[in-house]
Amino acid sequence: MAMNTLEDLLAHELADLYSAETQVADALPKLANAARSQELRTAFEEHLEETLGQIRRLEEIAHELGLTMDEGTCRAMEGLLTEADEVMNARIGEDVVDASLVAKAQRVEHYEIAAYGTAASFARQLRHGHVAELLEQSLDEEKNADAMLTRIAESGANERATARGTSEGTTFEADGGLK
Ligand code: ZN
Ligand code: FE
Ligand code: FE
Ligand code: FE
Repeated sequence: MAMNTLEDLLAHELADLYSAETQVADALPKLANAARSQELRTAFEEHLEETLGQIRRLEEIAHELGLTMDEGTCRAMEGLLTEADEVMNARIGEDVVDASLVAKAQRVEHYEIAAYGTAASFARQLRHGHVAELLEQSLDEEKNADAMLTRIAESGANERATARGTSEGTTFEADGGLK
């Protein structure tokens, strides 16, 4: 696509986010399924609901700005979710499963925080006030999701991971392994 103006750049960022969010929506059920604690499972399930709302917001924005959002795949999210897949396919001890899932999921949230922050700032600069508001709503949800993951990690997942250091579970299907 032509990339000459901040308007073009915003369109690019939005299409990239749309690709990223649709990938996240596909991944979250797998993460929820892999989670060992009910707390983490619920957090992933609730963030899936938020993610579907974020996709709808991006569709509303596309409609408002007359964009198609069909620019291709967000390679960064593809990479982050590949890492999450690697963890889910690896032989990981029962006690460190949730800590490993949180570690991967927080990378996803931080990427989204960066992307929504940038896009909202472009939209403000371009005087697309309503678009900026919608992006900031999603930005807030991503920040909350990140904080929730930190809370879950620090209130249990990391502690369990250190409590019984010798367990050698084969928690996930043993068809992979960390490369
Ligand atoms: Zn515009
Ligand atoms: Fe999201
Ligand atoms: Fe991207
Ligand atoms: Fe998110």
